[in-house]
Amino acid sequence: MADTAAAEKPQKPLPRPSPESVPYWEAAARHRLEIPRCNACGNYWFPPSASCPHCLSTHFAWTQVSGRGKVFSFVVFHRVYHPAWEGDVPYVVALIELEEGPRMLSNVVGIPVDQVTCDMPVKVVFDDVASGVALPKFTPA
Ligand SMILES: [Zn+2]
Repeated sequence: MADTAAAEKPQKPLPRPSPESVPYWEAAARHRLEIPRCNACGNYWFPPSASCPHCLSTHFAWTQVSGRGKVFSFVVFHRVYHPAWEGDVPYVVALIELEEGPRMLSNVVGIPVDQVTCDMPVKVVFDDVASGVALPKFTPA
């Protein structure tokens, strides 16, 4: 009796956009980093929400940002918490501070994990993980 389940490679879960984050993921699929920018006070914010966390205005526009920022903080994962990441350890999970101000959780890629430092300049890259799904990640600028 064939055990097909054992032969299947574990899959990484894909993002499940909330109503507030759909535009973010649609932009990412087109390799554009877009975040909300308030029409009233001009501030950017992330993660997406229905109103500006600075002034509570509900008038905002999805705006493309530079994709440049710096590593605010990071950790190196050495342990496999999900079987789909077995080939990826060690990897970096970092809080990236965008040039425009907001911080986002992501990965730093394209550099040995022991060379990642706080305040390191980074720029966005897009990892096409499935058809129509890309994850914004960051690499040294
Ligand atoms: Zn505002």
